[in-house]
Formats: sequence, structure tokens, C-alpha cells
Amino acid sequence: MTSFAVPFFAFRDFPAGINREVEQALVRAAASQHYILGEEVEAFEQELATALGTGMAIGVGNGYDALVVAMKSAGIGPGDEVIVPANTFIATVNAVVQAGAIPVLAEPDPYTCNLTAGAAAAVLTKKTKAIIPVHLYGQACEMADFMQLAQKHNFILIEDFAQAQGASYGGQSVGSFGKINATSFYPTKNLGALGDGGAVVTSDAALAAFARMYRNYGQEQKYHNKIVGINSRLDTLQAAVLRVKLRYLNQLNSERQRLAQVYQNELQGIVGLILPVTAPACTHVYHIFNIRTSQRDKLQTWLAAQGIQTAIHYPVPVHLQEAYAFLGYQPGSFPVAEELAATSLSLPLFPGMTAAEQQQVISSIHTFFKVHG
Ligand SMILES: *Cc1c(COP(=O)(O)O)cnc(C)c1O
Repeated sequence: MTSFAVPFFAFRDFPAGINREVEQALVRAAASQHYILGEEVEAFEQELATALGTGMAIGVGNGYDALVVAMKSAGIGPGDEVIVPANTFIATVNAVVQAGAIPVLAEPDPYTCNLTAGAAAAVLTKKTKAIIPVHLYGQACEMADFMQLAQKHNFILIEDFAQAQGASYGGQSVGSFGKINATSFYPTKNLGALGDGGAVVTSDAALAAFARMYRNYGQEQKYHNKIVGINSRLDTLQAAVLRVKLRYLNQLNSERQRLAQVYQNELQGIVGLILPVTAPACTHVYHIFNIRTSQRDKLQTWLAAQGIQTAIHYPVPVHLQEAYAFLGYQPGSFPVAEELAATSLSLPLFPGMTAAEQQQVISSIHTFFKVHG
């Protein structure tokens, strides 16, 4: 068999013709000469809200800003504690600090890698104002338990669904459970722009009105400022791109799920290799296909030697990041998060990946475990 390079991620024309549609949308938006907010952004916001089954969507500059705007809108600030998983992309935690609140970390589930209501309940205090479940790798968190906990203890649920657009729990879309929720349109996300972008979604009209003002200098009407806001608007050209991509989101996610199933079928049964586990009632849209092995570093080097690119999400858990030393956690504070950081490897998976590329990844992994198993 001839071997060739396999990228971790690539932008392909999938489904065929989508690139041309995106280009046409860009040309149309550029020709409109309306470059800030306007009809294109409003149309995308409505289409996104409809797709998610939420009342309103507010386009912002990126996913991090979406989290900050969501928290500000929900009234989270100094003195408040916000529970976040110990194994998330750093943006989730940085946003809590930016809002002036205190991040409180909690252990993920060792099988799904997601935060559970049980783990969050263990670190709940009188100061807990919010919990941010992150639908990590594209798998929905078990939301019924979070909804119950939120009701019982009267805190705010904010979903970080940056990695999981189109995933669902119990048939309901992620991004529609929390009081106000945040997502990212970073180019490699399941719903990706051709640059930065993000959105806040909510069915609460008052929070939506606040978010809409806050992202645009605190004004409803130009030069009339009700609150001290920021500038974090979804770019109009990106909104035009996202309107096209949104129409194909289900198809793009189905292709990710098909590729994931091929990996599941062909990598099952290897001793020492743990494949992704999806919880009942949850769907997984495979933003990341995460495998685990105690030989992670060796396997990554082996694959790299054959031109197969992989990634690690994430090599250092939040509590062991230098930036978060001030939280006072230690090695050993979150054994599950630490174990995931030491054993996780993300395999190439993206819409448009060819069967030949995927077979090369699969056969290289089989050979590795024959040699090192
Ligand atoms: C990508 C991501 C973000 C932040 O998105 P940006 O648009 O890059 O700011 C936040 N949370 C999670 C879980 C992410 O994966």
C-alpha cells in the first residue's frame, strides 16, 4: 500500500459545490456595501435561532466574547462562582475571569469526558451563580440532570456549545437548554466561518435585548448609550458565509458521524485503546474524534512518522495551567482530567476526508498496536 500524508483537518469542497455557494454569498455581501451588522447578520441570527429552536440569536465577534456577553447578560460578576469542567478549551475559563467571577473547576466523566451534574453538585457553594456545561468534542452533556440541579439550587445554566452545533439531548438541540448560551464559528468548528465569529442564544427577551446592546457599545439607537458595552459584532461577510454553511450543517454533521462510525467499527477490540463513548439520549457530532491510550505519545510519534497528523485536546488540564496557578489547585486535584490529558489523542476527521485517508490512519494504528501491544 502506498502511503501519503493525512492532515488532521482540511477544508474540502464537501458537500460538492458548497465552496462555490460560499464564494457567491461573499460576493453578494461585499456588493451590498453594508459591512457592519445589517440584513445579512439579522437573517443569519434568525436562521440560527430557528435551527436551534431558541427564541433569539445574537451574533458576536468570536466564541470567547459569546461566553463573556452571555455571562454579563445573565448578571454574573464579582464575587460569583461559576462551575466549569477541568478539561475544557481555555476560553470557557478565561471568559469567567473576564466577567469578574471566580471559576470553580469540576471533574469530567471518565467515559464521555463531559461534565456531569453530579460532579458539579460536588463543588456547589452558596456563592455558585452559574454552571457552564461544555458539550466537549461534539457530544451533548446529559442535560436533564443539569436542568434539575439548576432548578433545585436556583443557579443559571449557560451552555458552551462551541464544539457541538447540531448535537442534541433527548431530541432537543444543544444551545436551547440553558438560560443563555454561547457558541463559536471558528473556521474548524462544525459550523465554521472564514474567520472569527460567535453567537449568544437565548429565549429570554430581556437577556437577548441586553446582549444585543452590550455587543454594540451598549446602544439600541446609534449614539444613545444605555449601558457601557463593548464592540463585538458578528462580521457581515462572515454572516453571509454562515448562512450557507448553516443550511448544510446537518449534512456536514452526518458525514462526521459516518466517519466516526468507520473508526468505531474498524478500531474496536484493540487492547489498550479506548474509543469514544456516547451517553444514552445524547448525540455526538464529532467535532473531535478522541481516542485514549497509555501509549499516547508513542502512538502520536508513530503516526507522525507516517505523515498522519493528530492533535491533543487538551495536553494540560485547566488547573495545571500556569495562568491558573492562582486558583490554588494541585497536581492530583482532578485525577480524571489529568488522566484524560495524559492519554487523549484526536484522530483526523473532517467532512470530505477520503476513504483512503481514513484507511491509512486505521491500518497505521493496527500496526502500532501489533508492534507495541
Ligand atoms: C472554540 C471554543 C471556544 C472559543 O471560541 P473562539 O471563537 O475561538 O473564541 C470556546 N469554548 C470551546 C469549548 C471551544 O472549543
